[in-house]
Amino acid sequence: MIGGGIAGLTSAWALARAGFEVSVLDTHALPNPHGSSADDGRIIRHVYGTMEGYAALMPAAHLAWARLFAATGHDRLLPVRALYVLREEGPWQATAQRALDAAGLRLALLDDSAIAALPMLNRDGVLRVAEVEGSGILQARAILDDLLALLRRSGVQLREGVEVAGIDPAKGIVTLCGGETIGADALVIAAGTGVTSLLPGLARDWGLRASVQTLAYLDPPPHLAAAWQAGPMLLNRLSGHPTGGVYVLPPRQGARLKIGDYDTTAEADMGADHATLRADRVAALLDAGARAIADFGAYRIAAVRHCHYTMAHEDRFVVRRVGERGWVVSACSGHGFKLAPLIALGLAAAIEGQVEGAALAHWAAGREGERVHG
Ligand SMILES: Cc1cc2nc3c(=O)[nH]c(=O)nc-3n(C[C@H](O)[C@H](O)[C@H](O)COP(=O)(O)OP(=O)(O)OC[C@H]3O[C@@H](n4cnc5c(N)ncnc54)[C@H](O)[C@@H]3O)c2cc1C
Repeated sequence: MIGGGIAGLTSAWALARAGFEVSVLDTHALPNPHGSSADDGRIIRHVYGTMEGYAALMPAAHLAWARLFAATGHDRLLPVRALYVLREEGPWQATAQRALDAAGLRLALLDDSAIAALPMLNRDGVLRVAEVEGSGILQARAILDDLLALLRRSGVQLREGVEVAGIDPAKGIVTLCGGETIGADALVIAAGTGVTSLLPGLARDWGLRASVQTLAYLDPPPHLAAAWQAGPMLLNRLSGHPTGGVYVLPPRQGARLKIGDYDTTAEADMGADHATLRADRVAALLDAGARAIADFGAYRIAAVRHCHYTMAHEDRFVVRRVGERGWVVSACSGHGFKLAPLIALGLAAAIEGQVEGAALAHWAAGREGERVHG
């Protein structure tokens, strides 16, 4: 296993429970604070933009999380209200309604008094607010810690601080920086943005690239602290804004109030120092935050950071067989965390020979449950 982010660790879990002897190799100490997976929280919900094929996977994704939590002994999914703050008309509501209907969940439009009861919401330009059932926050960092503990208990070898310099997926051979070679029956490349260096040609052909996202952690003013502790996540698309919009995750169980942008157009500079901030991106994020959150100037900006993630064509998972022994698991843009255990179980089934590589790729790309509009 190359990579110890959520994709690599859940794949290691799924393979170990299927009886394989697994080693995980990562350049960094685990959990890697600079990886895409390391953060306080990640959103899980049944609506998936206009991608109905992925929405159809969400009930199974929840079952996969339940299975993982049963194995780690810790349920790390916090149910949190998800409010879509709609400031323009578009196809979102009808698509979301279909996805929720299929899952037996509700989409409710908030009335004026329910909207007025949200002291944190900037109501400027708001057409309506839709609440979608079945949403929550996955406690990402705690999940990585739990997985690492579980893998250690299960006898999985975790090798930190080892960088893979080259791979031969046909023979199942990994060459580390320093020259050591390791052979494996199956080689899983779950290297996050690192896939663009390990398999540059294929990554390009499959439309994989590394983008940069910007996050800010906020301290609310004291009079709103209690409201935020019970507050919802706010999902705001802002078309025409340089961020594309902003999502707001409320503080919960020690995690801070957080805002993040939706802009995925900027290429990440993989050689750049993680601490170097891009002033234009930070300014755009804070401007978007002010459009989403009322009285934004009263909030203290506790920290700002950039993160990298792997963008895929149409935001689809790329899970492909490469050569005789290689498998690539590349997360689907900003959605890779919530689906990771499910994709991992599918990958393990394919490596066991229960599923064809092509069928796995089709399923993981969310094409099975896709609705054809006539
Ligand atoms: C700001 C932000 C918000 C997001 N929000 C959500 C959300 O709300 N919901 C959701 O579902 N998803 C979300 N995502 C996406 C999700 O977090 C990612 O898709 C997922 O974490 C990717 O996991 P990964 O294991 O593929 O990559 P990573 O976590 O980056 O792990 C890859 C690992 O591979 C290692 N590696 C790379 N190259 C090598 C090499 N050559 N040798 C050895 N090791 C190597 C790296 O050191 C790293 O530790 C978000 C992502 C970001 C950045």
